[in-house]
Amino acid sequence: VPTKVSENILTLNDVFISVKTTHIFHKTRLDVILNTWFRLARNQTYFFTDADDPKYNTISGGHLINTNCSSSHNRKALCCKMSVEFDSFIASNKKWFCHFDDDNYVNVPRLVQHLRRYNPLDDWYLGKPSIKKPLEIQDRDSKKKKVRFWFATGGAGFCISKALALKMVPIASEGRMISVGEKIRLPDDVTVGYIVEHILSKQLTVVLQFHSHLESMALLPNASLSEQISFSYSGNGSNRNVLSLKKSINKSLDPTRFYTLHCHLYPDLCKPNT
Ligand code: UDP
Ligand code: MN
Repeated sequence: VPTKVSENILTLNDVFISVKTTHIFHKTRLDVILNTWFRLARNQTYFFTDADDPKYNTISGGHLINTNCSSSHNRKALCCKMSVEFDSFIASNKKWFCHFDDDNYVNVPRLVQHLRRYNPLDDWYLGKPSIKKPLEIQDRDSKKKKVRFWFATGGAGFCISKALALKMVPIASEGRMISVGEKIRLPDDVTVGYIVEHILSKQLTVVLQFHSHLESMALLPNASLSEQISFSYSGNGSNRNVLSLKKSINKSLDPTRFYTLHCHLYPDLCKPNT
Protein backbone atom coordinates (compact mmCIF):
# COMPACT_ATOMS: atom_id res chain seq x y z
CA VAL A 1 0.00 0.00 0.00
CA PRO A 2 1.58 3.32 -0.98
CA THR A 3 1.96 5.63 2.00
CA LYS A 4 0.12 8.89 1.73
CA VAL A 5 2.48 11.81 1.19
CA SER A 6 0.79 13.67 4.02
CA GLU A 7 1.97 10.99 6.45
CA ASN A 8 5.57 11.79 5.58
CA ILE A 9 5.38 15.55 5.53
CA LEU A 10 6.94 17.11 8.59
CA THR A 11 4.61 19.16 10.78
CA LEU A 12 5.23 21.46 13.70
CA ASN A 13 4.27 18.64 16.04
CA ASP A 14 7.40 16.76 14.96
CA VAL A 15 9.60 19.55 16.34
CA PHE A 16 10.69 20.03 19.95
CA ILE A 17 11.53 23.69 20.55
CA SER A 18 13.54 24.49 23.68
CA VAL A 19 14.28 27.97 24.96
CA LYS A 20 17.05 28.48 27.50
CA THR A 21 16.26 31.08 30.12
CA THR A 22 17.02 32.07 33.72
CA HIS A 23 14.69 33.33 36.46
CA ILE A 24 15.86 36.95 36.31
CA PHE A 25 14.90 37.08 32.63
CA HIS A 26 11.37 35.67 32.95
CA LYS A 27 9.71 39.08 33.09
CA THR A 28 12.08 40.94 30.79
CA ARG A 29 12.47 38.33 28.07
CA LEU A 30 9.63 35.80 28.20
CA ASP A 31 6.69 38.25 27.98
CA VAL A 32 7.52 39.27 24.43
CA ILE A 33 8.05 35.65 23.36
CA LEU A 34 4.79 34.50 24.98
CA ASN A 35 2.89 37.31 23.24
CA THR A 36 4.40 36.72 19.81
CA TRP A 37 5.93 33.58 18.30
CA PHE A 38 5.08 31.26 21.20
CA ARG A 39 1.44 31.63 20.09
CA LEU A 40 2.34 29.79 16.90
CA ALA A 41 3.96 26.88 18.77
CA ARG A 42 2.31 26.68 22.21
CA ASN A 43 2.30 22.93 22.37
CA GLN A 44 5.82 22.42 21.00
CA THR A 45 7.84 25.05 22.90
CA TYR A 46 9.35 24.54 26.38
CA PHE A 47 11.29 27.00 28.55
CA PHE A 48 14.26 25.66 30.52
CA THR A 49 15.02 27.72 33.58
CA ASP A 50 16.57 27.50 37.04
CA ALA A 51 13.76 28.30 39.47
CA ASP A 52 10.08 27.56 39.98
CA ASP A 53 7.85 30.36 38.72
CA PRO A 54 4.15 29.45 38.99
CA LYS A 55 3.09 32.60 37.13
CA TYR A 56 5.13 31.92 34.00
CA ASN A 57 4.50 28.21 34.24
CA THR A 58 0.77 28.94 34.03
CA ILE A 59 1.05 31.46 31.20
CA SER A 60 3.17 29.01 29.21
CA GLY A 61 0.64 26.21 29.68
CA GLY A 62 2.86 24.28 32.07
CA HIS A 63 5.85 24.52 29.75
CA LEU A 64 8.32 26.14 32.18
CA ILE A 65 10.79 23.48 33.26
CA ASN A 66 12.94 24.00 36.34
CA THR A 67 16.15 22.21 35.42
CA ASN A 68 17.45 22.54 38.99
CA CYS A 69 20.69 23.68 37.37
CA SER A 70 22.56 26.50 39.09
CA SER A 71 21.40 29.97 38.11
CA SER A 72 24.88 31.32 37.61
CA HIS A 73 26.12 32.14 34.15
CA ASN A 74 28.97 29.70 34.24
CA ARG A 75 29.92 26.94 31.84
CA LYS A 76 28.75 24.14 34.06
CA ALA A 77 25.34 25.71 34.71
CA LEU A 78 24.74 26.42 31.02
CA CYS A 79 25.84 22.92 29.96
CA CYS A 80 23.57 21.56 32.67
CA LYS A 81 20.57 23.32 31.12
CA MET A 82 21.49 22.20 27.60
CA SER A 83 21.77 18.66 28.89
CA VAL A 84 18.25 18.82 30.39
CA GLU A 85 16.95 20.29 27.10
CA PHE A 86 18.55 17.36 25.30
CA ASP A 87 17.11 14.75 27.67
CA SER A 88 13.64 16.30 27.38
CA PHE A 89 13.87 16.12 23.59
CA ILE A 90 14.86 12.45 23.71
CA ALA A 91 11.93 11.74 26.04
CA SER A 92 9.56 13.59 23.67
CA ASN A 93 10.24 11.11 20.87
CA LYS A 94 9.99 13.94 18.31
CA LYS A 95 11.90 14.15 15.02
CA TRP A 96 13.79 17.42 15.53
CA PHE A 97 15.43 19.14 18.51
CA CYS A 98 15.67 22.90 18.03
CA HIS A 99 17.34 25.00 20.71
CA PHE A 100 17.01 28.78 21.05
CA ASP A 101 17.95 31.47 23.56
CA ASP A 102 15.36 33.64 25.31
CA ASP A 103 16.43 36.64 23.18
CA ASN A 104 15.47 34.89 19.96
CA TYR A 105 12.34 35.35 17.86
CA VAL A 106 11.58 32.09 16.07
CA ASN A 107 9.74 32.33 12.76
CA VAL A 108 7.95 29.05 13.44
CA PRO A 109 6.35 28.32 10.03
CA ARG A 110 9.66 29.05 8.28
CA LEU A 111 11.52 26.78 10.67
CA VAL A 112 9.16 23.89 9.92
CA GLN A 113 9.27 24.60 6.19
CA HIS A 114 13.06 24.60 6.26
CA LEU A 115 13.30 21.34 8.22
CA ARG A 116 11.22 19.62 5.53
CA ARG A 117 14.35 19.71 3.33
CA TYR A 118 16.10 17.14 5.50
CA ASN A 119 15.28 13.61 6.55
CA PRO A 120 15.27 13.36 10.37
CA LEU A 121 16.30 9.70 10.03
CA ASP A 122 19.65 10.95 8.69
CA ASP A 123 22.22 12.80 10.82
CA TRP A 124 21.71 16.55 10.68
CA TYR A 125 23.19 19.37 12.74
CA LEU A 126 21.83 22.64 11.40
CA GLY A 127 22.84 26.11 12.50
CA LYS A 128 25.12 29.02 11.93
CA PRO A 129 28.68 29.55 13.13
CA SER A 130 29.68 32.96 14.42
CA ILE A 131 33.34 32.55 13.57
CA LYS A 132 34.97 32.46 10.13
CA LYS A 133 37.21 29.47 10.74
CA PRO A 134 36.64 26.24 12.66
CA LEU A 135 37.46 26.48 16.35
CA GLU A 136 40.88 25.03 17.13
CA ILE A 137 41.60 23.65 20.58
CA GLN A 138 44.31 21.59 22.18
CA ASP A 139 43.29 17.96 22.55
CA ARG A 140 43.01 17.15 26.27
CA ASP A 141 43.92 13.51 25.70
CA SER A 142 46.98 13.81 23.49
CA LYS A 143 48.37 17.24 24.27
CA LYS A 144 50.28 17.58 21.03
CA LYS A 145 47.27 17.19 18.78
CA LYS A 146 44.98 20.01 17.80
CA VAL A 147 41.28 19.48 17.36
CA ARG A 148 39.33 21.56 14.84
CA PHE A 149 35.56 21.74 14.65
CA TRP A 150 32.65 23.99 13.76
CA PHE A 151 29.84 24.76 16.15
CA ALA A 152 26.49 26.46 15.69
CA THR A 153 26.09 29.57 17.85
CA GLY A 154 23.48 28.83 20.51
CA GLY A 155 22.24 32.41 20.38
CA ALA A 156 21.17 31.96 16.75
CA GLY A 157 19.44 28.65 17.42
CA PHE A 158 20.31 25.23 16.04
CA CYS A 159 18.51 21.99 15.21
CA ILE A 160 19.54 18.36 15.53
CA SER A 161 17.76 15.46 13.85
CA LYS A 162 16.46 12.54 15.87
CA ALA A 163 18.93 10.13 14.25
CA LEU A 164 21.90 12.27 15.24
CA ALA A 165 20.49 12.93 18.72
CA LEU A 166 20.20 9.18 19.31
CA LYS A 167 23.89 8.80 18.41
CA MET A 168 24.65 11.57 20.93
CA VAL A 169 22.80 9.80 23.76
CA PRO A 170 25.75 7.76 25.11
CA ILE A 171 27.91 10.90 25.16
CA ALA A 172 25.43 13.62 26.10
CA SER A 173 22.44 12.21 27.97
CA GLU A 174 21.74 12.26 31.72
CA GLY A 175 24.27 14.96 32.47
CA ARG A 176 27.15 13.48 30.50
CA MET A 177 27.19 16.64 28.37
CA ILE A 178 28.33 18.52 31.50
CA SER A 179 31.41 16.30 31.79
CA VAL A 180 32.27 16.87 28.14
CA GLY A 181 31.94 20.64 28.62
CA GLU A 182 34.13 20.47 31.72
CA LYS A 183 36.73 18.44 29.85
CA ILE A 184 37.11 20.92 27.00
CA ARG A 185 36.29 23.90 29.26
CA LEU A 186 34.06 25.53 26.67
CA PRO A 187 30.44 26.76 26.65
CA ASP A 188 27.36 24.64 25.98
CA ASP A 189 26.94 25.42 22.26
CA VAL A 190 30.64 24.73 21.65
CA THR A 191 30.27 21.47 23.58
CA VAL A 192 27.44 20.38 21.26
CA GLY A 193 29.64 21.15 18.24
CA TYR A 194 32.52 19.20 19.79
CA ILE A 195 30.31 16.17 20.39
CA VAL A 196 28.79 16.22 16.90
CA GLU A 197 31.82 17.18 14.81
CA HIS A 198 34.77 15.81 16.77
CA ILE A 199 33.44 12.82 18.69
CA LEU A 200 30.81 11.65 16.17
CA SER A 201 32.53 12.99 13.00
CA LYS A 202 29.33 14.52 11.61
CA GLN A 203 29.34 17.93 9.99
CA LEU A 204 27.49 21.11 10.77
CA THR A 205 25.25 22.20 7.90
CA VAL A 206 25.26 25.98 7.76
CA VAL A 207 21.81 27.56 7.63
CA LEU A 208 22.20 31.25 6.93
CA GLN A 209 18.62 32.05 7.97
CA PHE A 210 19.50 31.66 11.68
CA HIS A 211 20.59 34.97 13.24
CA SER A 212 22.16 35.84 16.59
CA HIS A 213 22.89 39.30 17.95
CA LEU A 214 26.53 38.77 17.01
CA GLU A 215 25.31 39.89 13.58
CA SER A 216 23.93 43.33 12.90
CA MET A 217 20.14 42.94 12.95
CA ALA A 218 19.60 46.24 11.13
CA LEU A 219 21.36 44.85 8.05
CA LEU A 220 18.53 42.37 7.37
CA PRO A 221 16.39 43.90 4.61
CA ASN A 222 12.68 44.23 5.44
CA ALA A 223 11.77 42.32 2.29
CA SER A 224 13.76 39.25 3.38
CA LEU A 225 12.54 39.01 6.98
CA SER A 226 9.81 36.49 6.17
CA GLU A 227 12.43 34.08 4.83
CA GLN A 228 14.55 34.15 7.99
CA ILE A 229 14.20 31.52 10.71
CA SER A 230 15.49 33.28 13.83
CA PHE A 231 16.27 36.80 15.00
CA SER A 232 17.72 38.36 18.14
CA TYR A 233 18.49 41.65 19.84
CA SER A 234 20.99 43.02 22.33
CA GLY A 235 22.13 46.10 24.11
CA ASN A 236 20.36 49.23 25.26
CA GLY A 237 20.63 52.95 24.81
CA SER A 238 22.94 53.83 21.93
CA ASN A 239 24.52 50.34 21.80
CA ARG A 240 21.35 48.63 20.68
CA ASN A 241 21.45 45.94 18.04
CA VAL A 242 17.88 45.49 16.87
CA LEU A 243 15.95 44.89 13.68
CA SER A 244 15.15 47.95 11.65
CA LEU A 245 11.59 47.87 10.34
CA LYS A 246 10.03 50.62 8.31
CA LYS A 247 6.53 50.49 9.76
CA SER A 248 7.28 50.22 13.43
CA ILE A 249 5.48 50.22 16.72
CA ASN A 250 6.59 52.90 19.19
CA LYS A 251 10.18 51.99 20.06
CA SER A 252 9.71 52.53 23.78
CA LEU A 253 6.82 50.04 23.76
CA ASP A 254 8.78 47.58 21.64
CA PRO A 255 12.46 47.89 22.51
CA THR A 256 13.28 44.42 21.14
CA ARG A 257 11.35 45.12 17.87
CA PHE A 258 9.82 41.64 18.18
CA TYR A 259 6.21 42.92 18.38
CA THR A 260 6.88 44.97 15.26
CA LEU A 261 8.44 41.95 13.56
CA HIS A 262 5.52 39.72 14.55
CA CYS A 263 3.04 42.21 13.05
CA HIS A 264 5.18 42.52 9.93
CA LEU A 265 5.27 38.74 9.44
CA TYR A 266 1.73 37.93 10.61
CA PRO A 267 -0.48 41.02 10.28
CA ASP A 268 -3.65 38.99 10.93
CA LEU A 269 -2.33 37.79 14.28
CA CYS A 270 -1.46 41.12 15.74
CA LYS A 271 -4.62 43.15 15.60
CA PRO A 272 -5.39 44.70 19.00
CA ASN A 273 -6.70 42.22 21.59
CA THR A 274 -5.88 39.09 19.65
N1 UDP B 1 21.37 32.49 30.65
C1 UDP B 1 21.24 31.53 31.62
N2 UDP B 1 21.80 31.74 32.85
C2 UDP B 1 22.46 32.89 33.14
C3 UDP B 1 22.58 33.89 32.15
C4 UDP B 1 22.04 33.65 30.91
O1 UDP B 1 20.63 30.48 31.38
O2 UDP B 1 22.94 33.03 34.26
C5 UDP B 1 20.79 32.25 29.33
C6 UDP B 1 19.92 33.41 28.85
O3 UDP B 1 18.61 33.28 29.35
C7 UDP B 1 20.02 33.24 27.35
C8 UDP B 1 21.44 32.70 27.15
O4 UDP B 1 21.82 32.13 28.40
O5 UDP B 1 19.09 32.30 26.85
C9 UDP B 1 22.43 33.77 26.73
O6 UDP B 1 22.40 34.82 27.68
P1 UDP B 1 22.52 36.34 27.27
O7 UDP B 1 21.64 36.62 26.08
O8 UDP B 1 22.22 37.17 28.48
O9 UDP B 1 24.05 36.51 26.93
P2 UDP B 1 24.88 36.43 25.57
O10 UDP B 1 25.75 35.22 25.74
O11 UDP B 1 23.93 36.29 24.43
O12 UDP B 1 25.62 37.70 25.53
MN1 MN C 1 21.96 36.88 24.06
